[in-house]
Amino acid sequence: MPLSLPPEKAELGQAFAAVLKPGQRVCLTTHVNPDGDGLGSEVGLVHLLRAQGIDAVITNPSPTPPRFSFLFQDLPGVDRTAEAVKELRRADLIIVLDISDITRLGMLIETVRERRVPVACVDHHVSAGILPAGPRYVDPGAAATGELIFELAKANGWPVTQQVARALYVAILTDTGGFRFSNTRPRTLRVAADLLETGVDPEQIYLEVYARAPEGRPRLLAEALQTLVVEPEYGLAWVTVPPGSIERHGVSSDDLDGVVEFPRSIEGVRMALLFREIAQGRVKVSLRSIGDVDVAAFAKTYGGGGHTKAAGLSLTGTLAEVQATVLRAARAYLGSDGVGSRESGVGSQGEKRSSI
Ligand code: AMP
Ligand code: MN
Ligand code: MN
Repeated sequence: MPLSLPPEKAELGQAFAAVLKPGQRVCLTTHVNPDGDGLGSEVGLVHLLRAQGIDAVITNPSPTPPRFSFLFQDLPGVDRTAEAVKELRRADLIIVLDISDITRLGMLIETVRERRVPVACVDHHVSAGILPAGPRYVDPGAAATGELIFELAKANGWPVTQQVARALYVAILTDTGGFRFSNTRPRTLRVAADLLETGVDPEQIYLEVYARAPEGRPRLLAEALQTLVVEPEYGLAWVTVPPGSIERHGVSSDDLDGVVEFPRSIEGVRMALLFREIAQGRVKVSLRSIGDVDVAAFAKTYGGGGHTKAAGLSLTGTLAEVQATVLRAARAYLGSDGVGSRESGVGSQGEKRSSI
């Protein structure tokens, strides 16, 4: 049973596509450190737009991680990230995918802000941000932006070829953690089923995305997991990426994908964190939760955002400073929720912390 689109979504999808005209030069972009959803959605949409006579290219604020480069094999010259600013300056339209907030565009923020062209957006985040005006196709109920690109194709009668399907399958597979997370709805699996109907090979995609790792990826994981700290009294657990370890193992931040699932996997943990220095004096925190703990709301208080159970934030300070600030707030947050705090916890943390 192929996916059926509710009439209001079909209308929204058609209204979104009304700005698209054959011959246009369109730049697609996504958040810094692009992930499988951002890149898969971009590649899927590039194929869809090119089939409509639109000259679409990809201009991201940071480079494509090697494990997603297979998506670009049949799109030579489309990944224009290295010349992103130049490309954005000549675009007729910009489409931002997998974020709704200009502040997540890294080195492209100013260029996108200054352009006087429509900035369209397709996204599934709960935290709305600020973007220059343009059409929107946003649904926080979608598991991945890739699911929404599929809906746009359906709404407009654009053929979903095997190339499109492969890219959108990568988007949905990665953002649902392999169809395991709570965002995996019946609808998500219906979209995935339609994608597989085109002949896409799920094992081939699994191998490309998850089983072609550089040796450094498991070695980095081993180092990060050594830092695990658990505070059972709060339902809190965290790991820290040792400074310099990414470079030492010859990998990139993309190779940390999934590491935060390890602290989250511990019995009784309600909030899991991953700390990583992204630059001198700047620290990124990835947050994941179990049950009713809303990490998007927590991240928002520090200028971050994301989804209820998967969010992120960046703060200025040393690793130790940011850890102290965020962990103190996390303990208070979990305690005030009545979640994970079996005792008042105050004054006894030293004994109860177990560091593996
Ligand atoms: P990550 O922890 O990088 O895997 O991201 C988890 C979720 O939080 C994703 O949906 C991200 O888009 C979002 N996110 C991560 N970092 C930030 C940030 N600094 N500001 C807003 N959202 C973020
Ligand atoms: Mn993303
Ligand atoms: Mn996403």
